[in-house]
Amino acid sequence: MSHCHAKLVVTMTALYLHIPFCRTKCHYCSFSSRAGCSELYTPYIHALKKELTQVAGMGPHPPLQSLFIGGGTPSILPCSLLTGIVDHCREQFAMMPDIEISVETNPGTVDERYLQALYRAGVNRLSLGVQSFADPELKILGRSHTAEEAAGAFQAARNAGFTNVNLDLMCGLPGQTPLSWKKSLDLALSLQPEHLSVYQLSIEPGTQFADLLKNKKMELPEEEDILLMDRQTQRGCLAAGMQHYEISNYCLAGYECRHNVNYWLNEDYLACGVAAVSFRKGVREKRITDAREYIRRMDAGISVVEERECLSAEASFRETMIMGLRLIRGVCRETLVQRYGRDPVQYYGPVLDKLVHLGLVELTDTHLRLTGTGRPLANQVMAELV
Ligand code: SF4
Repeated sequence: MSHCHAKLVVTMTALYLHIPFCRTKCHYCSFSSRAGCSELYTPYIHALKKELTQVAGMGPHPPLQSLFIGGGTPSILPCSLLTGIVDHCREQFAMMPDIEISVETNPGTVDERYLQALYRAGVNRLSLGVQSFADPELKILGRSHTAEEAAGAFQAARNAGFTNVNLDLMCGLPGQTPLSWKKSLDLALSLQPEHLSVYQLSIEPGTQFADLLKNKKMELPEEEDILLMDRQTQRGCLAAGMQHYEISNYCLAGYECRHNVNYWLNEDYLACGVAAVSFRKGVREKRITDAREYIRRMDAGISVVEERECLSAEASFRETMIMGLRLIRGVCRETLVQRYGRDPVQYYGPVLDKLVHLGLVELTDTHLRLTGTGRPLANQVMAELV
């Protein structure tokens, strides 16, 4: 590891765990998740706990500030399996007293008793995959729940004691109009969540949506309508007292998702489970994607890492720049200089000058950030800086 940028090590405090199971497969989904396979739940959690013990043994690690259990649909698991993972983490890792423990859930997989058990186990942030409050859109997406079930799940979360709840919504869906989007957004905001993620649909290869689009059996909203929906989102969220803190994320003051902020800052994070990616001391490790194979390897004591990339300090600097531009406040120049000994303004020179000149990026006293014009074109801007 001598060629990795060991001197750039920063305090690593986040742990991601992946649960690769879902009730059904959504039509747009390219995440590592499979429907059915309930016979794998128990052996998978057993294997995951083994990996956790292994990773903990590679420490000492600083106390965790964030634990994020994502998927897939973690809440598809019987509750005791899910709380058992949290308990196991607590046994294996030191945790900060104010650790953020997030679990992704889907409406239709949770009821109040289930959520109460999660809350008692120490889960203090819930993310609900709502996607839309229009049933016809949910159907097109292949979601396995209704809008009513989503609102019910939110209420159940409140009743169970959760005071930090995120709702995931999607815009730019087939058949979605600015009017139907506004309705979904307003319904979401009327529930008064602490956090709202609004992801724009992207068509990923290998999904049903990719086939439908290729065969011209599906139409997406016009670019103009998508921009209008984006403006509606910003206006609605600001009026609801939320801050726009990342391209796709809004929250009430103090409710930024700690886990994701760590990720956007390109800080280190541990990860365990199928398809999970960790980043530690300049080394990125990606785990295998097949749950059966993961279980077999963990049982046999074989590594589950299938890809290991050692990033140079320069590559890491560029990634930190790209990821940081996702944050509305932008990237702190001084932090980059301290961490990498490089100033982005000097490093990117004319490329950055051009983006500034085009009004896509701006320089404040301390930060480099996307402008309001640059944000909808984030991918193009980032492509210039990769
Ligand atoms: S619930 Fe989420 S992870 Fe599961 S199939 Fe649907 S989009 Fe993919």
